[in-house]
Amino acid sequence: MHYGQVIMQMIEQMEPKVKQNIGIDTILIEAGALTKLPQYLEDKQYERVQVVVDAHTYEAAGKRVEALLEKGFIQINTTFITPNAIGDVIADEASIVQLLLDIQQHRPQIVIAVGGGTLHDIVRYAAYTSSLPFLSVPTAPSVDGFNSKGAPIIIRGYKKTIISIGPNAIFADLDVLTRAPQPMVAAGFGDMIGKYTSLFDWRFGSLTNNEPFLQKSESITQQALNRCVQHVSLIAKRDEEGIASLTSALIESGVAMLIFGKSHPASGAEHHLSHFWEMEYIELGKKQLLHGAKVGVACIQISKLYRQLKEEQFGKRAKVRESITRNWHEIITRIEQIPTEAELTSLLSMVGGPTGMNELGVSEDLFMRSLQGAHLIRPERYTLLHAWNTSNEW
Ligand SMILES: [Zn+2]
Repeated sequence: MHYGQVIMQMIEQMEPKVKQNIGIDTILIEAGALTKLPQYLEDKQYERVQVVVDAHTYEAAGKRVEALLEKGFIQINTTFITPNAIGDVIADEASIVQLLLDIQQHRPQIVIAVGGGTLHDIVRYAAYTSSLPFLSVPTAPSVDGFNSKGAPIIIRGYKKTIISIGPNAIFADLDVLTRAPQPMVAAGFGDMIGKYTSLFDWRFGSLTNNEPFLQKSESITQQALNRCVQHVSLIAKRDEEGIASLTSALIESGVAMLIFGKSHPASGAEHHLSHFWEMEYIELGKKQLLHGAKVGVACIQISKLYRQLKEEQFGKRAKVRESITRNWHEIITRIEQIPTEAELTSLLSMVGGPTGMNELGVSEDLFMRSLQGAHLIRPERYTLLHAWNTSNEW
């Protein structure tokens, strides 16, 4: 059975309310998935569509989408999102308004996002604002946000996540995805590797701070992560089976978040570090790094820190919360389940992803500031990084 069908089956078995909230009716992860797009649109009686690309994703898949749709009776218009002054396509007010103006002019019934995570965020927010549905055509298995509802957008230089909509369907064509640039594949793998620490932090928050927890979302994320790691050599080769398993894992991680209704399963201290670095890069006008590349490197650092806290018997310090001391034994056991710095480095190296902060251009100074300030990005989340910072003896 194809990966997409397995995910759809899992969604079908959920309660009607959850199913409706996920809102996806089709997930295709297969070679030639794009050829099924015209039939899908015809079945749903969509006659006017807006295809959204950037210069790279147009070459990767946008052109093919246009050609396939032109054969039918579908009226298509294409928006090329313009990169910013330093050549990055970003989900900021300029990109969003560019798409909104095209939507107002062409009055599509549905919008198709052809691209990576950022392009999806632009479309997700613009479609939501225009009360239109959207379809996802990922061009690289680079991030777990294709089917997310949250749109992280950058307004006046600040990143803000706004709850909007997820896609009605995902057409993940392996003919496209296996040709994705290697750094983007490595980034997708890095975003998955980050689940080692995000799943830990989620358990930590629920044990010590009564944060909500959902077993189902934990097991979906854990299984997706395990499968991804088992397929690491095939992913590294960009083999069809490897790319299918990575793409599926990223979508499953998105489903786990949708079921839970929050990002806890997929985002812990490693994501907070990554966001801290990203905000600094935005402020300095530096070229953006791939999300998953940062998450992978941050995960290595968090694993290192957490193991150190285990060695130092952090949970037995006088200044920590009683709930940490009480659960310290279980916390230690769970820290031991996070792969070591060396194991994570080896996994990321296999797919050719960055492993050190120097490769990302993150200086020692920025790193130290992020260790001490990243928890403030999500002050309501009680991660071990947060606990360490707020009961610290600096
Ligand atoms: Zn992520």
